[in-house]
Amino acid sequence: MFNLTYSNHESSPLSGSARFWHATGMGTPLLYAIGMPEGRPDIPRELERALFVEAGHRCAIPTCRAVAPLVIEHIDDWATVQEHRFENMIILCANCHGLKGEGPRKLDRKALRQYKINLGIINNRYSDFERRVLEYFIEGRWHLVLPTDLDILVLYLIKDGLLVKVPREKGTWYDENLTQQGYMLTPAGQEFVKKLATAQPVSSEAIQ
Ligand SMILES: [Zn+2]
Repeated sequence: MFNLTYSNHESSPLSGSARFWHATGMGTPLLYAIGMPEGRPDIPRELERALFVEAGHRCAIPTCRAVAPLVIEHIDDWATVQEHRFENMIILCANCHGLKGEGPRKLDRKALRQYKINLGIINNRYSDFERRVLEYFIEGRWHLVLPTDLDILVLYLIKDGLLVKVPREKGTWYDENLTQQGYMLTPAGQEFVKKLATAQPVSSEAIQ
């Protein structure tokens, strides 16, 4: 269970009208904010839950993935759409929320929409572990090492031609007893990761 405490955070990048709920539960304290102009109905709990699940309870921006504080963002502003609709909403951290806008260093609506579409695609296709592997490569890693015989953990990344096993040979970077298996992104995998990170469509070539 969470204990919810209402508080104002004047120094936040969010507007002064935003209301914050500081939740402390059994795990890591979670701080998230819901900007609620007067007269705006609450976001239904089921919708809120679906959005947090979609984003894995993290900021939905693949190069960020911060865990707190998180906000529920309307991609097209609430003032324009006047409705809470799953397709138009996304979880962001307060920093990324502060970047929303137009301009070269900003997070614009087109990018937010594409991040959301990509998130839906990889959520449907890949396991939680595989999504973490993709994030791991987005962070700039060049290879992944697992104990042997765990290909099943990255099976769909391999099947889709995004990841390839590095041949296991003594005298290479493998340990003496060959107890590990290395994986690297294929060129298609590198392209896929780059597209995820830069809000370009990932749907077409890699995933059948
Ligand atoms: Zn973020």
